[in-house]
Amino acid sequence: MKKEVKKQAILYVVIPCYNEEEVLMETTRQLKEKMEKLVKDKAISKESKVMYVNDGSKDKTWELIEEINKKENFFTGLCLSRNRGHQNALLAGLMVAKEYADIVISMDADLQDDINAMDEMIKKYYQGNDIVYGVRSSRKKDTLFKRMTAEGFYKFMQKMGVDIVFNHADYRLTSKRVLNYLENYKEVNLFLRGMFPLIGFSSDVVYYERNERFAGESKYPLKKMLSFAWDGITSFSVKPIKMVLSIGILIFVVSILILVYSLVVKLLGNTVPGWTFIICSIWIVAGLEMLSLGIIGEYIGKIYNETKARPRFIIARNLVEEDKDERR
Ligand code: UDP
Ligand code: MG
Repeated sequence: MKKEVKKQAILYVVIPCYNEEEVLMETTRQLKEKMEKLVKDKAISKESKVMYVNDGSKDKTWELIEEINKKENFFTGLCLSRNRGHQNALLAGLMVAKEYADIVISMDADLQDDINAMDEMIKKYYQGNDIVYGVRSSRKKDTLFKRMTAEGFYKFMQKMGVDIVFNHADYRLTSKRVLNYLENYKEVNLFLRGMFPLIGFSSDVVYYERNERFAGESKYPLKKMLSFAWDGITSFSVKPIKMVLSIGILIFVVSILILVYSLVVKLLGNTVPGWTFIICSIWIVAGLEMLSLGIIGEYIGKIYNETKARPRFIIARNLVEEDKDERR
């Protein structure tokens, strides 16, 4: 599956920014050093760039981006018409960057993700990987609460049947062709870290330590985090619907046992009149209702999958075409 790739690819680093005026200058300083080093080492082409995506910031973020763009060779920017949230801003950046780049790395503006992991990501790309996931080796610097909720979330997602990389957020390298395929995923409820494993191709991981935010506040308060997690589950899994059917079957089976039980109790003569009828009715009706809901749910689950209209397959290599190219 793996194919050797030409050296000195054009790299674009895509960074969504929402009210990040406090961090942008320092981020730019560090990334400039990094880009210069990568170009000097001939790891990437000198046409490479860092692309800041302004996600409708209310502070001076965009003015700063414009200023940096004028002063610095390696820096460019994109401005969304309004705030659309981290995932949409990131997708916008990826879709624009892929037109100019061979590879794209996405990361956050606060440099919590160690930029030194980029070297290894690029190396792994040249070894023939189309996606390289950045994975947090530990969460020592996160608060206990953040660590428990985040790790619990990844485990829960995997239980729900969603194929995600444990402890990987949105720090990753992707090749141009992966992004071209990503464009075919038209869904509106974005959960990007769940979509890349669906696309496939050879992938690898790079481990890094996650730092604290060096300035400014998190733009992901608990409420946003919870709704993001909920989006992740409901955008990728029909297991919750399937659970309704299982519960329906369970209640229906229990209702038959109750029927037998209450008939026995009645025959033994230990009941008041009407008791058997009421108990049996409650259980059988509840069981039938739950069962019907579950069956309707199965169809809704199918509709949900159809409306996403995700690609059914992606072809990695086609030897017919490759043979033709060779003969040319
Ligand atoms: N972000 C964005 N739009 C938003 C919220 C956040 O573009 O509506 C960006 C933000 O500027 C940062 C990244 O998403 O570059 C991650 O946000 P943050 O670092 O605050 O999240 P945390 O690391 O605390 O989870
Ligand atoms: Mg952060």
